[in-house]
Formats: sequence, C-alpha cells, structure tokens
Amino acid sequence: MRLYTINAGHFKLDGGAMHGVVPKSMWNKANPADENNMCSWAMRCLLVEHGNYKILIDNGMGTKQDDKFFGYYHPHGDDTVEKSLAAHGFTTDDITDVFLTHLHFDHCGGSIKREGDKLVPAFAKAQYWTTEKHWQSAMNPNEREKASFLKENIEPMQESGQLRFIDVADGEKWLPDFRVRYVNGHTDSMMLPQITFNGTTILFCADLVPSVAHISMPWVMAYDMRPLDTLKEKAQILTQAAEENWVLFFEHDPKVECCTLQKTDRGIRMKETFPLSELEARYPVKE
Ligand SMILES: [Zn+2]
Repeated sequence: MRLYTINAGHFKLDGGAMHGVVPKSMWNKANPADENNMCSWAMRCLLVEHGNYKILIDNGMGTKQDDKFFGYYHPHGDDTVEKSLAAHGFTTDDITDVFLTHLHFDHCGGSIKREGDKLVPAFAKAQYWTTEKHWQSAMNPNEREKASFLKENIEPMQESGQLRFIDVADGEKWLPDFRVRYVNGHTDSMMLPQITFNGTTILFCADLVPSVAHISMPWVMAYDMRPLDTLKEKAQILTQAAEENWVLFFEHDPKVECCTLQKTDRGIRMKETFPLSELEARYPVKE
C-alpha cells in the first residue's frame, strides 16, 4: 500500500463558526483570522494505492461554482487535485474509487466538473462511495445544513450511474486494511477511513477533528448538527487513537498533515506532527 497527500487547495471559513464556543482570544493563536474574521483551511485529500485500487478520499470544492459562491469561500493557493495527482504520476482517469467522507461541498465538490453545459463526473472511471443514510440527508437537507449540500455536486453522481453505497458495519473492513468508522455528530453518517499501514493505524479525520487545534475536546465546530454527539465520538475515537498510537491525518489543518497523540493531565493532546511523506520512514514494513 502507498499513501499520497493530494492537495485540493485552500479556502476560508469564518473563524467563529470553525471554533464553536471557543473564544477568539484562544483560537486566534492557533488559526489566525484575517481582517474579515476568516481563517485559511486546507482541503487535503488522501490517495490510497492498494493493489489494483486507487482510492481518492474526498476531493475539495472543485472549480465549477460561480464567482459569487467563491466570493464567500475564497479559494486560494496553487494546488489542484489534477496537479497534485500529476506530481505523483497519476491522472483523474487512474482513480478507481472516490470515497466521500460526506457530501459537504468542500469535501465532494471536485467529484463533478462542468463540460460545456453538462455536469459530469471528474473521475470518469471511478465508483463514487457514500452511505445511503448520508445520501438521503444530502438529498433532503435541513435548513441549517442546506448551504453545504449543493445539488450540482450530488445529483450528477447518481445520474452518471457511478454512485454506490457502502454498507459495512462500523469498524469493519470495506477492503483489506481499510476499515470504515461512522460518526453522526457533524452530519448524518460521516465516514472516517481507518487504514492499516505497515501495522500502524492511520485515521482520516475528515470533519470530526478538522485541525490539530480541534483535538481539544471543547473545540467543536458550530457547523456540527449534533455537537454533543461529536464530543462523545471524539472522546471515544481519540482515546483509542492515543492508546493504540494511531496516526491522525488532517483534512483541514492549514499546515499539519499528520500527528500522533498522547494522554496528559489536561486530556488528550498532540504528540508529534509530521508530513505524510515521512510515514514510510517512521513506520517501516515489519519483518
Ligand atoms: Zn463537513
């Protein structure tokens, strides 16, 4: 198995909304805001090359929205999924599976591209994976979550015939060395890939723990549908991660790609941070 970081660029979200009840005097040190109170976030995806599979986990916000939309979210930086795939010798046609943690626009917008006046899958040969429960909530969103689920990102997946539903039980294997954890605090049935790499567990944190700062329990996004469930899910999963020396992979942290955890008197905290490119050297194949 090989793992590659695929950078889909950075964007901005309101600092207050990203940090929930945490006061700005605290979060501004971790994730400094600009003059409009917006903080910069990565849209960091993960490519899993595993036997004949090339699985892309999430794909950023894409490029098909209009200027008004991008005016709210300020995409910036030079990274794109295509460029980032090319840097590792891949093209969008090489992707066999697009694994979508959830269907919020900053995670799945790159799934669909505009071709003339048509909306078509950006990964022509891939199957697109979500859960039936999450799909239903994306198709029939509540008023609070509606702005995150864009029809143009979602409906063409079904129309193309490339949509699939994952139905393995929580913590069970979807593929060898690739388990799925389900959490419901951020949105209905968000999936967290739990990957075994040379005997070590790598957790793709998606929006359960968007950045290193969010490891601290009360740092829960105001975007979450059920923040108290997020608290419980974070406590359970991060405790297991700390006890079993997992590596966390962050989708939104502006800088940090990976970290390990430790238990301290003040709760679970970050131990070491490192780029994914160091993973093989840090966790070599066990003889
Ligand atoms: Zn989300």
